Amino acid sequence: MTFIKKRGHWLTFLLMLAVVSGYSAADVYALDIGNLYSPLNDKRPFRPSTRYIILHTTEGSLDGSLRKVHRYGEAHYFVTPTGKVYRIIDRRRIATHTGRSMWNGKTTLDNMSIGIEVVGFHDKDITPAQYAALKELLRQLKRTYRIGDENILTHSMVAYGRPNRFHSQKHRGRKRCGMILSHPDVRKKLGLLAAPTRDPDVTAKRLVVADPDLHRFLYKPPRVLAALAASKDQQSMVIARGNNAWRIARDKYDSPHTLYVYPDGRKLRGSEIREWSNIPAGTRVTFLDEDREREQEFEGFLEIGKDGSTARDLAGDLYADATTIYFFPSGLIRTGAELNASASQRKQLNNPPKGTRVLVGYIYGGYVQKGRPASRIAGAKWNYPSTFYRLPNGRIMSGDEIGKTKIPTRTLIFMMK
Ligand SMILES: [Zn+2]
Repeated sequence: MTFIKKRGHWLTFLLMLAVVSGYSAADVYALDIGNLYSPLNDKRPFRPSTRYIILHTTEGSLDGSLRKVHRYGEAHYFVTPTGKVYRIIDRRRIATHTGRSMWNGKTTLDNMSIGIEVVGFHDKDITPAQYAALKELLRQLKRTYRIGDENILTHSMVAYGRPNRFHSQKHRGRKRCGMILSHPDVRKKLGLLAAPTRDPDVTAKRLVVADPDLHRFLYKPPRVLAALAASKDQQSMVIARGNNAWRIARDKYDSPHTLYVYPDGRKLRGSEIREWSNIPAGTRVTFLDEDREREQEFEGFLEIGKDGSTARDLAGDLYADATTIYFFPSGLIRTGAELNASASQRKQLNNPPKGTRVLVGYIYGGYVQKGRPASRIAGAKWNYPSTFYRLPNGRIMSGDEIGKTKIPTRTLIFMMK
């Protein structure tokens, strides 16, 4: 009897505590969370700081997306349609989820953010179970890292593209990933009050807008979410006037996983197309295998004579920039800024020989040499997934794949800008 009475007191006390601290039984949501750590988890370096949480939609099925995110360590958390949450990368370590990214002048946001993958599509509302799970996960992370609601962003807000055939400048609109999670109604349901009201990098003219529809959705959203369905009807997968390959596929336009079916029945992959201005109207675009594209893959070299005939064709307005690197057939390697600084070398910049290879949007670290190891060139970032190595045999490896002791001299180091 005394025991029961005592227990009753405790319950009353706990209940009172709950009332005082603003919790009621209805607010308590137990996160269904488990470990499914990526094989890359142990290799990933610890993040020096955590300023943002970036939200993603998988744009694919549960199984395929989970396999890919797990294999490449592309998120810290993964939220299934039934609200189950998996830990993929230890939240203190770096996950590769944003690729080429910028926010408020800071780049490569993987190094300062937590990434959450939500199974779903950028233009489709998430499930009630996902709302509940994501809300609780965000509540916990916001508290742990003291992150304000305005620093909870979507991948589509922070991804940006290097100059390409369709845009001569660095641009926003490379991805629509997570777009739905920026809508005020959705954010409200997730317990997020503040949100960015404008794109700081577009405002500061660091980037231009390459997807006006996305930009409008993010910063001047339709009043009701249902309006999205109407705008989706206009999103055609067929090449037509005003609907070019960029509008349809965005950063996947030249991917080997994007297939173009021409009106005459010819089929070409994005990576096989050379004449981008001659794609006939009526060509249908399909994505073959969305689950294959890695978030932080090395973007590769462009080549004079293959991808264009001038430096401007390949690098746009960045052709003379310090982040554009030229590999001449003679073996000479120089940045655009270096070439532009001397009158004799400017000739090579203005007329690069056929076969010259070009990297756009990377910081050039130079060669590994005796007494000049990778850790001296790249500092703590030597094994970041965003750091790339070109071995003397031509092979490209990321910081994820390379071991410190095995880096031979004459290896080149590039850091993603
Ligand atoms: Zn994403």
